[in-house]
Amino acid sequence: MSSSLTQLIDDLATGRVRVVDLTQPLGPETPVIGLPEIFAPSPPMTIETISRYDERGPAWYWNTIHLGEHTGTHFDAPVHWVSGRDLPDNTTDTLPPHRFVGPACVIDVEAEVERDPDFLLRPEHIEAWEAEHGRIPAGAWVLLRTGWSRRTDPTAFINADDDGPHSPGFHADASRLLALERDVTGVGVETIGTDAGQAGGFDPPFPNHAIMHGAGKLGLASLCNLDQLPPTGAVVIAAPLKIVDGSGSPLRVLALVAG
Ligand code: MN
Repeated sequence: MSSSLTQLIDDLATGRVRVVDLTQPLGPETPVIGLPEIFAPSPPMTIETISRYDERGPAWYWNTIHLGEHTGTHFDAPVHWVSGRDLPDNTTDTLPPHRFVGPACVIDVEAEVERDPDFLLRPEHIEAWEAEHGRIPAGAWVLLRTGWSRRTDPTAFINADDDGPHSPGFHADASRLLALERDVTGVGVETIGTDAGQAGGFDPPFPNHAIMHGAGKLGLASLCNLDQLPPTGAVVIAAPLKIVDGSGSPLRVLALVAG
């Protein structure tokens, strides 16, 4: 019997479909988002050895990890934001798993971000992308390719000055267009969170979080290798840990890419 899955297995075996890892390494050096001091901070990741083939466990190696849910390459569930707190199936353990798999639409704004680290994606950028690549389908993961993941130095990744962090993101009108008019599954970014560095001062504050999660949409932060994806045609697999009542989780994000 033939099916798209038997074809996929064959294509994976022969390399006609590649698996691209969109995930950053996760460790104590992983940058964590900074908030004004009046708010509780998320700690850096710590990792302690339980045993490593030693007197604590002669034949086995394992670690204890301690980290915030929103550390490194991670998933944002709708319950993460107050706008999404009363939605059904809004946590990492209750979101239906079919939502974790979907087509990628990759919007390349590397040139714009090169000129302006505070670049915001606006509806006109989305409409220009659609004129070239077709309408963003319902259920898409919209991935914002900014080149930001090439900033491997944590200071350059956060890119803060006296005004706070400077990194690209979404204008509120773009988030509304994607969430409400395109019915996307969510957005993914290369930066530390799905809002721009300066978004704490926007109206509403952190508009992408407020709008996306208020509409039940998902988020992916600190992605990499988006330059290995075509504008359309890739499939993203982004399944968070099934943390009970979780607001998000670190995860491994994969993309299936033809060719
Ligand atoms: Mn987050």
